[in-house]
Amino acid sequence: MVVAGRAGLETAWDRLESQQPQCGFGSLGICCRHCFMGPCRIDPFGGGAQEGICGATAETIVARNLLRNICSGAAAHSDHGREVVEVLRSATAIANPEKLKTLAAEWGVAADPRSLADRMASQFGSQEGPLIPLLRAPEEQRRRWEKMGITPRGIDREIVELLHRTHHGVESDPVALLRAAMRAALIERLESEGLLRDGVINTESVLEACLTLLARSPAAVVLVGLEDLWSETQPQNTPGTLYERANWQRKTKLSFEEFIEFPAVRRILDRVAAARVTSGE
Ligand code: SF4
Repeated sequence: MVVAGRAGLETAWDRLESQQPQCGFGSLGICCRHCFMGPCRIDPFGGGAQEGICGATAETIVARNLLRNICSGAAAHSDHGREVVEVLRSATAIANPEKLKTLAAEWGVAADPRSLADRMASQFGSQEGPLIPLLRAPEEQRRRWEKMGITPRGIDREIVELLHRTHHGVESDPVALLRAAMRAALIERLESEGLLRDGVINTESVLEACLTLLARSPAAVVLVGLEDLWSETQPQNTPGTLYERANWQRKTKLSFEEFIEFPAVRRILDRVAAARVTSGE
């Protein structure tokens, strides 16, 4: 920054300075220009307009704006993936033939780069699931995604749907919009951060990736739920059931002596501790 200043070069910080004060509507995400009836904006103090011309509320506008940001990020990363597939298709030599064989078996094709690349490329536009990499996830996890309605289909299909649903007059329920965003964003973010071990998607690897992401943050303290470390499915407490069940009394499945020797627990905690060190906290 100092060197850039001495050289008279403009940086993002100079441009940020020149934008002050930044637009309050934009900062709150309550302005919309998704169609040519707008632009519209919501008065956050309640005195002025509370809906856009199409009837969109502040919640709907915020959710739409967030979704479109996620959409363009997912589009960018998925296109990087497409480039990798194209490189594989034109490969003339493979450094790790064993890995090629393993992947070809998983994807159900002959162990040659072109067949594997063709099969992978077909998944981008897959209209329905499950996608082949998702089959690595445990059945229980896939059932949960199914129940929540967030099992991802091909990324091209997801992006078209997100752009469609955020268009005016289509989807106005902010919760439904955010659920759709979760589907496109979850796996994409963890993969783009390089946090999923060798691309493995299962409960343990996703938990490990999420905790590592938190641990890398500048937060002063990062808490790890003990029972999450072995994917406990029973709750300690069910709010509002004082008389129906004994709350806060279930013992943990593993004792301290047991879980501290558990390889998966140790690996996750070691990874979190290492990420804390690199984050400087
Ligand atoms: S989509 Fe609705 S809120 Fe957005 S600009 Fe059009 S009319 Fe206004």
